[in-house]
Amino acid sequence: MDRTVVSQSMEDYLKAIFQLGKLETQVSTSALADYLKVAPASVTNMCKKLAELHLVDYEPYRGVTFTPAGKKIVLEIVRHHRLIELYLAEALGVPWDRVHEEAEKLEHVISEDLEERMAAVLGDPKFDPHGAPIPSRSGHVHEHDSGRLVDMETGDRLIVVEVDDRDPELLRYLGQLGIYPGTKITILVRAPFNGPLTLTSGGNEYSLGYQAAESIRVARRRDE
Ligand SMILES: [Zn+2]
Repeated sequence: MDRTVVSQSMEDYLKAIFQLGKLETQVSTSALADYLKVAPASVTNMCKKLAELHLVDYEPYRGVTFTPAGKKIVLEIVRHHRLIELYLAEALGVPWDRVHEEAEKLEHVISEDLEERMAAVLGDPKFDPHGAPIPSRSGHVHEHDSGRLVDMETGDRLIVVEVDDRDPELLRYLGQLGIYPGTKITILVRAPFNGPLTLTSGGNEYSLGYQAAESIRVARRRDE
């Protein structure tokens, strides 16, 4: 299809659909409105436009699902975004709480050639600095087997696999605690009623509020 008819804001909607439902799940317009913090009427308008371009199937009152053309484009943008984040972090030393915002702009404008060069310099990486999988050139997304930290139990020995990349303040906070993808943590106490979690990691013990813990995905550890 003619990519020039797909505007940056359309690309941002496609990315939001992907964030909420990955490639196959139907995403409701109300979930999109919440996620993008825009009025439901604007979401409905945009979904109709995306459907006219055959990028999504739109069912009124139910939501949107990707068409094959929509999947192809969203995977390309997500690949751009995550490669740019990693490149900025690894090659330019940009702190991990700032790469997302930069990538939000650059993802829409870099050429396929530049993308390939970044991938080559980075050695065809599989994950971005926040642990999110980078779709391969052919559109394969390597999903890790992970769950939400807040759904784990007291005594669980875990490894951090991914953190939400959208809140720089939260990323700085997690960075101060030393929580990055790959960090090993153990839950000492999980307070009831969505209370804080007491964690140990690298010999340090600290308490993490529920809201911060909600942004972290983990896998169980089988070592030691
Ligand atoms: Zn990001």
